Amino acid sequence: MSSNNDFPEQIEVDIVVVGAGIAGLSSALEAAETGFSVLLLEKNPYIGGRVAQLYEYFPKLCPPTCGLEINLKRLRENDKIRLLTLATVVNLERNNGKFHLKVQQNPRYVNNRCTLCNECVDVCPVERPNDFNFFLDKTKAIYYPYNNAYPQRYVIDPSYCQFENCKMCVEVCKYQAIDLKEKKRTIEVLAKAVILATGWDPYDATNLDYLGYGKFPNVITNMIMERLASPSGPTKGELKLPGFEGPIREVAFVQCAGSRDENHLEYCSSVCCLASMKQAHYIRNQYPEAKIHIFYIDLRANGILEDFYNKAKDDPQIEFHRGKVAKVSKGNSQNSLLIEAEDTLSGKIIQKEVDLVVLATGMQPTANSKSLPLEGILDDNGFVRSDLNNGIFGCGVCVSPKDVASVVQEATGAAMKAIIKVKEVQ
Ligand SMILES: Cc1cc2nc3c(=O)[nH]c(=O)nc-3n(C[C@H](O)[C@H](O)[C@H](O)COP(=O)(O)OP(=O)(O)OC[C@H]3O[C@@H](n4cnc5c(N)ncnc54)[C@H](O)[C@@H]3O)c2cc1C
Repeated sequence: MSSNNDFPEQIEVDIVVVGAGIAGLSSALEAAETGFSVLLLEKNPYIGGRVAQLYEYFPKLCPPTCGLEINLKRLRENDKIRLLTLATVVNLERNNGKFHLKVQQNPRYVNNRCTLCNECVDVCPVERPNDFNFFLDKTKAIYYPYNNAYPQRYVIDPSYCQFENCKMCVEVCKYQAIDLKEKKRTIEVLAKAVILATGWDPYDATNLDYLGYGKFPNVITNMIMERLASPSGPTKGELKLPGFEGPIREVAFVQCAGSRDENHLEYCSSVCCLASMKQAHYIRNQYPEAKIHIFYIDLRANGILEDFYNKAKDDPQIEFHRGKVAKVSKGNSQNSLLIEAEDTLSGKIIQKEVDLVVLATGMQPTANSKSLPLEGILDDNGFVRSDLNNGIFGCGVCVSPKDVASVVQEATGAAMKAIIKVKEVQ
């Protein structure tokens, strides 16, 4: 694999893969290991996508690094793949069966001489809110995005760095790894097929004020729960919340928070039920006595994941309530929250006082015409259409919500379809 600073301004490859989450990584590796040249583009300063933010992932409940590391090894060993981080497609045209892409790469300001010695971070005087941890903590303006992030180099956030007015990082760096004058670059790419793997963003919970998000510090989203549980997260893995001191004795998970609802996301995000059962286990590990309530409309656990559900169902501390939560408001004791839902099995109104509410918000596709030139490629919900046969193929959650195992299968399929297209164009 080759990457970054030495990158030519014009290149020709067989396949361009947009997005280096688990979907894009998998399809790029499958295509490259079959002998096809691949350009892998990632808009973030690191690869791995949302999986990198998870604490553990089902079904095996291993840390995401165990899956990502194998792919990283494959990536490092394969000279058929070129990776560009901080890169997005700004123009895409098709002529005589080939794609002409204009890729814009933003500066990282840190080159591959960086050894992650941390001296630049120590002297940097400016802080920025940490988007990786959903703004629950801060990093310096020069930062390493997360433990084990790849490329293994710092990056500078240009919205916070004081550049020529400071330069302390440049002065302290023994390796001449920092160049504050680095400029944005445009790279012209010619390719025979394009794979879109642009993934998802969590649904914006500020649209769910009736569920108390933004109003109570102890109402969080499922992705925030992943970062809180993670040893590399804002609380070093301790499930405690900024602004909330109380013990965690009762927790409610609100399923379909903004999903299967025509006012928000009309579809099911398919993994949220299992994600909540997994997170119930995070809570039980730290607070063995805690009581967990999962409020659901339907529970979905496909294939082998049924076992995962059965384990949660057999846990006497986890109670499932069939009913959509109508409201989260302040409870009777200090810091407690009141959940109100209709139990659709008994027809009765359920009220529960809890210490913490986790909103199981869904996955919303990131692909849109503002982030990519994609006319005619997206369906009404913003997902990449799966019926395209024009040399552009989608895989992963940008096509539809799914778990990692299904993403990897679909990514392999997309690589195979792209290879067939490349052979037709040759
Ligand atoms: C709370 C929660 C918990 C979950 N837990 C599990 C679990 O335990 N097990 C499991 O199997 N699944 C789990 N999932 C699902 C899992 O996160 C997804 O299956 C996975 O992230 C999909 O990977 P992806 O590559 O399709 O998308 P992403 O992970 O979103 O990756 C997409 C990549 O594309 C990049 N990108 C986006 N737009 C552009 C652009 N225009 N140009 C360049 N790059 C771009 C992004 O920066 C990102 O790196 C969970 C989901 C949620 C919501």
